[in-house]
Amino acid sequence: MIPGVRLIMLGRQGAGKGTQCVRIARHYVVPHISTGDILRGAVKEASPFGLKAKEFMERGDLLPDDVMIGIVAERLGRDDTRTRGYVLDGFPRTVAQAEALIEIAGRKPIDLVIDLEVPRELVLERLAGRRVCETCGTNYSVAVPPASGETCDICGGLVVQRADDTEDAINRRLDLYETQTRPLTDFYRELGDLVTVDGVGSPDMVLERLVAAVESSRRPGVRR
Ligand code: AMP
Repeated sequence: MIPGVRLIMLGRQGAGKGTQCVRIARHYVVPHISTGDILRGAVKEASPFGLKAKEFMERGDLLPDDVMIGIVAERLGRDDTRTRGYVLDGFPRTVAQAEALIEIAGRKPIDLVIDLEVPRELVLERLAGRRVCETCGTNYSVAVPPASGETCDICGGLVVQRADDTEDAINRRLDLYETQTRPLTDFYRELGDLVTVDGVGSPDMVLERLVAAVESSRRPGVRR
């Protein structure tokens, strides 16, 4: 069996993180931990926490660091991540969250941080056309819809536009990405863990580049 891996995927909203995290997690047989999916699950259950989270998400705002750190600490405490590793998608999103991850997961919590690079103009176009299954979170688009047109190929759930994919919320999230999340690339570059991967191209091409990046980081003596 392919050895597990501990990966963080960074990249603007719409860079294809969700789609590629699912694929790379399947490739390395590790859990895909998406904080956005966890939050959307809470919103769907309409728990008091979910209702509060919904307000932040629909505005395109980030939830408070301590809340997100608590959620991820709980998830990373389970056995599956301890034995095989994980692909973290949407966390960390601030330097405070990255620092907390070191506390949660130990001195060397990750093997590689990938910055999936797609220009802002292109992600704006992709986000406007993005559609998602409201039950299982599978991503589709106007250009690549599910086979039935409206329901998910995997679970039969309804395929909809995300509530936070409005033009205002998209712009707000992209601005927040530059101010809050972009500094993480410097944080991880200094630790020597960062690699940038070109996210433009077909999903298969991008996956190939991601796997090549992980494999080259595993070669003995490779300095990033
Ligand atoms: P995503 O699916 O990763 O784009 O996340 C959707 C929304 O969930 C974001 O716009 C934030 O409102 C919230 N969210 C997800 N992950 C985090 C995080 N690590 N820190 C703060 N807010 C988050």
